[in-house]
Amino acid sequence: MPIDATQPYDDQNIFAKILRGEIPSKRVYEDQWAIAFHDIAPVAPIHILVIPTGRYVSWDDFSAKASAEEITGFVRAVGKVARDLGLVAPGYRLLANVGQHSGQEVPHLHVHLFGGQPLGPMLV
Ligand code: 5GP
Repeated sequence: MPIDATQPYDDQNIFAKILRGEIPSKRVYEDQWAIAFHDIAPVAPIHILVIPTGRYVSWDDFSAKASAEEITGFVRAVGKVARDLGLVAPGYRLLANVGQHSGQEVPHLHVHLFGGQPLGPMLV
């Protein structure tokens, strides 16, 4: 069920629990600003979710409320994950769903990072 992206942040959402280590995940990266982990239901050979450590529901929320330091840290983390996974040369795709029409299901901002094969015109 897609979420309402204007809702207040819910500390009990699944990614908040992953962030706090209450639910296991296969982490590939973490720093002060972001963590990255494998999607539980991958739709590409490499399917990683990168989330900010701050409490933001959506890209809109993040871009409006996060500090410049947080935004820079998060964007750099996304790029570092792609580099660390060797995806720059073969290429990869980033995607962030926001709200009902996109099908966003988890109310904590996340960027999907897809790679590992030619991705076609659109994946999700
Ligand atoms: P959305 O549709 O909100 O953009 O994407 C949510 C993503 O989170 C989906 O691709 C889904 O497979 C993934 N996901 C949902 N629950 C979990 C979980 O508990 N662990 C992990 N690693 N991924 C999850």
